[in-house]
Amino acid sequence: MSKRAISTEQIHHPYRPPEGWDAHPVGVFKASTVLFKDTADLHRYRPRDGKSYRYGLHGTPTSYTLAARIATLESAEHCLLVPSGLAAVTLVSLGLLRPGDEVLVPDNVYGQNRYLSESLLPQFGITYRFYDPLDAAGLAAMLGPQTKLVWLEAAGSITLEFPDVLGIVAACKQRGVLTAMDNTWGAGLAFNAFELAPGLGVDVSMQALTKYPSGGADVLMGSVCTRDLALHERLNYMHEHLGYGLGQNDVELVLRALPTLALRYRAQDATTRALAQWMQGRPEVAQVLHPALPGSPGHAYWQQTSSAGAACLYSAIFKPEYSAAQVDAFVDALELFGIGYSWAGPMSLAVPYEMSRSRALPSKLAPGRIVRFALGLEDVADLQADLAQALSQLSAGK
Ligand SMILES: *Cc1c(COP(=O)(O)O)cnc(C)c1O
Repeated sequence: MSKRAISTEQIHHPYRPPEGWDAHPVGVFKASTVLFKDTADLHRYRPRDGKSYRYGLHGTPTSYTLAARIATLESAEHCLLVPSGLAAVTLVSLGLLRPGDEVLVPDNVYGQNRYLSESLLPQFGITYRFYDPLDAAGLAAMLGPQTKLVWLEAAGSITLEFPDVLGIVAACKQRGVLTAMDNTWGAGLAFNAFELAPGLGVDVSMQALTKYPSGGADVLMGSVCTRDLALHERLNYMHEHLGYGLGQNDVELVLRALPTLALRYRAQDATTRALAQWMQGRPEVAQVLHPALPGSPGHAYWQQTSSAGAACLYSAIFKPEYSAAQVDAFVDALELFGIGYSWAGPMSLAVPYEMSRSRALPSKLAPGRIVRFALGLEDVADLQADLAQALSQLSAGK
C-alpha cells in the first residue's frame, strides 16, 4: 500500500505498547467510542451490567475500578457512579418512585434533597412528607400503603442530629418500605449502612464522592450502592435514561485520593471533636451540635450505630443577643476559614445559616444564628487560635 498521509498515520498508527505493565495507579482510560473487534463482536449481546464495554458513557476500566472500590468501601455489592452527589440523590428518588408513591424525608435532610422532594417529584405525581429523624415511632405511624421510600441522613445536614437509624430502618423493614441513606457524612467509615446491626441495614446508600472520597475540593461526583441485584437494576435503568457520564480525569482524582481516605477521616474527626468541645465552653455560644457531644441531639443514636467515627462538621448556635449581622461579622473575621459550601477538603470552611428557612417541623434547638464549621487539614492549634481571635472580636462588639 502506498504511504498514507500524516493524519491517517497518526490515527491508525500500528505501534502498541508492550504487555506486562504493572503499577499501583490505575490507568486513565477515556473514550466515547469503544472499538469492537469485528461486526460479530459488535452484534454480541452485552448486558448493561458493568462487566463489558459498549460505549464510553457506560464505563471504562477506570470508572469500573472506582465503582468496585466504592462498593467495597460501602460493604455493598453494586455501585453506580454519577456526576455529583445531587445526581445520586435524584437517581435514587427518580429510580425508585412512581406516580402515586410517597417519599418520607427527614426534616434535617440535605437542602437539595428537600428541594427535589418539594419541587420536582410532585411534577411526576410523587408526594412527600417530612419526618422527625429522632422519632422512629412517629415515622412508623406515618408509613402508609403509598409510602415507597424513606430517606435517612446520618447525621443530618447543618444541625447534625443523628437519627434513630435502628428504629427507622426496623420500622421500614417491617412494612416492606425501601430505605435510602445519604451516607456522605459517614463516608462508609463511621458505620456500615448495610449492616447497622446484625441483619439490619438500608437498601440503598449514596454518597457525594465530592466530599471525603475526593478530599481535594476539586471534583464533583456521586455514588449509589446496593446489595440487592434487582434494586441495582431498577437504579441502573434510570441511570441509563438520564445519560449520566463521568470525566475519567475526575475518576482518576478520586482513585488517587481513596488510599488516604481513612487517615483523612480520622485526622479531620480528631480536629473537629477538639474544636467542637472547646467551642462549647465559649461564652458567646449557646449550643454546639456534633453527634459525639453528649448534649447534642441524637448523641445516643450515634453511640448505638457508630463503630468509630464522625465527620469533620460541627455547628454552633450563637447566643440570641448576637444579631445575624454580628455573627456574619464573626465569620468574616476568621482568617483560616474559607466562606463557602461543601466540606471534607483540605481547607476549613464556615457558613452562617438561617434555620427557619429549611425546616418544616418545629425545631428543638436553641434559638439563635447558626454557623456550620467544616474542618480541614490545617493544624488544630492554628484553627483554635483563629476561632478565638474572631470570637473575642464578637464579644467585644466589634
Ligand atoms: C454535598 C452533599 C450532597 C451533594 O453533593 P454534590 O456533589 O455537591 O452535588 C449530598 N448530600 C450531602 C449530605 C452533602 O453534604
